[in-house]
Amino acid sequence: MPEFQRFSYDVLVIGAGGAGLRAAIEAGAAGAKVGVVCKSLLGKAHTVMAEGGIAAALANVDDRDNWRVHFADTMRGGQYLNNWRMAELHAKEAPECVRELEAWGALFDRTTDGKILQRNFGGHRYPRLAHVGDRTGLEMIRTLQDHGIHTGMEVHMECTVLSLLLDGNRIAGACGYDRERGRFQLWEAKAVVLATGGIGRAFKVTSNSWEYTGDGLALAYRAGAELQDMEFVQFHPTGMVWPISVSGILVTEGVRGEGGVLRNSEGRRFMFDDIPDLYKEQTADSEEEGWRYTQGDKNARRPPELLTRDHVARCINREVKAGRGSPHGGVFLDISWIKERMPKSEEHIKRKLPSMYHQFKQLADLDITKEPMEVGPTTHYMMGGIRVDGDSQMSNVPGLFAAGEAAAGLHGANRLGGNSLSDLVVFGRRAGRFAAEFANANGPVTIDEAELGTTATAALAPFDRGPAGENPYQIQYDLQETMQDLVGIVRVESEMQQALDAIGQLSARAERIGIAGNREYNNGWHTTIDIGNMMIVSEAITRAALLRKESRGAQFREDFPNKDSEWGKYNIVIRRSVDGEMQVEKRALTPMPDELKKVIEEMK
Ligand code: FAD
Repeated sequence: MPEFQRFSYDVLVIGAGGAGLRAAIEAGAAGAKVGVVCKSLLGKAHTVMAEGGIAAALANVDDRDNWRVHFADTMRGGQYLNNWRMAELHAKEAPECVRELEAWGALFDRTTDGKILQRNFGGHRYPRLAHVGDRTGLEMIRTLQDHGIHTGMEVHMECTVLSLLLDGNRIAGACGYDRERGRFQLWEAKAVVLATGGIGRAFKVTSNSWEYTGDGLALAYRAGAELQDMEFVQFHPTGMVWPISVSGILVTEGVRGEGGVLRNSEGRRFMFDDIPDLYKEQTADSEEEGWRYTQGDKNARRPPELLTRDHVARCINREVKAGRGSPHGGVFLDISWIKERMPKSEEHIKRKLPSMYHQFKQLADLDITKEPMEVGPTTHYMMGGIRVDGDSQMSNVPGLFAAGEAAAGLHGANRLGGNSLSDLVVFGRRAGRFAAEFANANGPVTIDEAELGTTATAALAPFDRGPAGENPYQIQYDLQETMQDLVGIVRVESEMQQALDAIGQLSARAERIGIAGNREYNNGWHTTIDIGNMMIVSEAITRAALLRKESRGAQFREDFPNKDSEWGKYNIVIRRSVDGEMQVEKRALTPMPDELKKVIEEMK
């Protein structure tokens, strides 16, 4: 068996984004010895890319806001498939978590009277997103790192976790390798928190960076944990479409929050054409009213560009398919038009959206203060993930916790913008606390050495096959094309069946991948490991999307275009059967207590 470098912790946190760091800080504060493993450099997690802001009912800009409105907005956005307990805890605890970040040194933008400023975002009734220009994630990660580094956590950077280890049915740690040298590592732990983020790289067009290959979901699934809501993949309506080399890069919803409008090639604001019943009462019926809303008029309703992401993405898709798209296959997003209403609009745009200004200037040679951008949908966020207990964040595997984008429940069928950053701190904190409690209450674990050997042998097998084997990059490309074309924004049974066949064939080819070279800096090897995870995630998405025979939130079925109230009673849960097959089933939602039902009724 290859040699393993060995470490031992009470709590092992896999992932160093907002959720992982917040969990590590909390577990450390509870007295646990904490190890953190991350696939890239510390500070480079997805969280650092977050732009628009973090949602919390601080009521600094509109005093009508409170946890009840935030709860109702989150449930409505998720089309009532959310884990209501998580939505409740999230709405109640997010303000405290934002203030905690501030106390740890985060410098949010300010109101004129010195409070944390909040901006509008899709699906939020009131301005609710605390932000730092359009670089909120950077400030959040900087703050968590600065604070966390003093709590004594040990960080293993640029290490990829290959497998979770079990002691009986209880978690016992994880093993993996360092990407620089390819040396194997073992992190023994009494409790593990998975905070590995999303799955965007399973699709061709995505806002996600190379790391987001669904590793945490696949690791948990292989270890016996249940996955949930895998059919709900969020396609953000506005990604760059041109130049092709940068297609998919996110254009923050903050652009629309600041007054940006969507137009088709005929110059028409097409979002007024189709407003879902659920949002009719809350949506402006004129351009004038929409503009007033973005400028803080409390009597105005929000413009249709700020409807939920699933809906806006589908409307853009419809315009493009109808031949009313922009030259490069998107539509136009225009913030420059505000010059008609606002003196010094150029300075205003540069101050409120500095990253967007530079992104378009540098990547597309376009000045957004003067010209419209071309945008189209991009795979952005995974609502589904590891099924956890709402309070503790523990999965069905004892000692295995999950938080952040890797966990399911809070967002239901569709996430509202800004609700991820708040998810990370609220549930990262909870996962860390409960993981430390679990570690404290349970004795040492025993490592199964044979299992370690099997994992290492399987990981090294592509080297034995050498360059004559299948090419990992080709398989990755083919999988991304399959998911993009057959399980994308608009889904239909026949295409998803085709996708399942293709995934089966690609999985068989993946078994034959061969790699040249050695273990040092070997990107072909890293990609091979990613592919195994992406296959599980892609199959789970496809099987769940096939089973849900309705359209709801992020899932749109051309063959079942309507919402079906019967399906509104179930989540879809996936687990691995004893013979290794993927099992997919409907699981009834837990009944909501009457007092929360009342909150939703009041807010309608
Ligand atoms: P991440 O921050 O994604 O971190 C995952 C960690 O897991 C990383 O450290 C990674 O290295 C590690 N990891 C993964 N696999 C492995 C493995 N096998 N072994 C070891 N480590 C591993 N949300 C908002 O609420 N507001 C916004 O304004 C916003 N803007 C966004 C803008 C962009 C461009 C993007 C892409 C997303 C945005 N989001 C926003 C979403 C939000 O940023 C993410 O959902 C969130 O940051 C995920 O955080 P996380 O802690 O769950 O995981």
